[in-house]
Amino acid sequence: MARTAFVGLGVMGYPMAGHLVKHGHEVAVFNRTFAKAEAWAAEYGGRACRTPREAAEGAEIVFCMVGDDPDVRSVVYGADGILAGMATNAILVDHTTASADLARELAQACSAEGKHFIDAPVSGGQAGAVNGVLTIMCGGAEEPFARAEPVMRAYGRQITLIGGPGAGQLTKMVNQICIAGLVQALAEAVNFAIRAGLDTDKVLATISKGAAQSWQMENRWKTMVEDKFDFGFAVDWMRKDLRIALEEARRNGAPLPITAAVDQLYRLVQMKGGGRWDTSSLIKNLREG
Ligand code: NAP
Repeated sequence: MARTAFVGLGVMGYPMAGHLVKHGHEVAVFNRTFAKAEAWAAEYGGRACRTPREAAEGAEIVFCMVGDDPDVRSVVYGADGILAGMATNAILVDHTTASADLARELAQACSAEGKHFIDAPVSGGQAGAVNGVLTIMCGGAEEPFARAEPVMRAYGRQITLIGGPGAGQLTKMVNQICIAGLVQALAEAVNFAIRAGLDTDKVLATISKGAAQSWQMENRWKTMVEDKFDFGFAVDWMRKDLRIALEEARRNGAPLPITAAVDQLYRLVQMKGGGRWDTSSLIKNLREG
């Protein structure tokens, strides 16, 4: 059993940290809004800390799950940050979806102090976190990965070391590129089925057994028909992820014409007030616009 810390108890971090306790690990938590850390500690019995540094002190592995690059930097660096509290040889595992540049920067910052870093963004959404079945894409060295992997199994079903620092974040970009175009195609298909006057339940039951099947189809078709988007993976987060992927593509030269177009379609959803809606809300552009 490991001594761990978890920084960032949002939609994803809260249940992930809970799974660590359920699997017998010791967990100290930090959350910017302290009341959430207290609520978590009351529910799971771990220790709520006032600073990331305090949480990281004495931990063999420190997990982090915040928002974007600047948020990660704000909890890692500084006198009250994670790095200041981490012991030599301890491992920082960042589950935030962030840039590959940040992952390489943090790997260097940790290594300069005799500590380890693994970038480990996840896929599987809120349900994957609650049910402990996330897919985790990792970048880093083999030795710390071998130590962290059994602990991450508390909430991960598929956990893979893809390559060196940044490889996890790059893989998450590949994941989001796959999803962006697919969700727009799904939105167009659902809208087409409605306008054609088809029984959408029958259409779903049939084509989800054929070559058009996807996770998005099985999990989002019905709620798209019902115009329900108050759950799931927020459009604001998706735009952050697409920005990171588009920036990386500008550097490596990969053309992303569909991804760039879908990013702009998500911008239209934000302008409708849908920043916190699930990403399947792309259909709003078709049904109202
Ligand atoms: P969330 O519910 O908005 O939670 C964000 C967490 O980060 C909160 O605990 C927040 O603290 C903390 N935080 C944000 N900025 C901070 C800062 N500057 N300093 C300190 N703490 C800060 O987000 P989430 O849905 O859990 O997503 C977290 C990450 O996972 C994102 O990178 C997202 O892209 C990724 N992700 C999300 C999903 C999903 O389905 N939700 C799926 C895969 C990956 P407060 O409580 O004080 O606000």
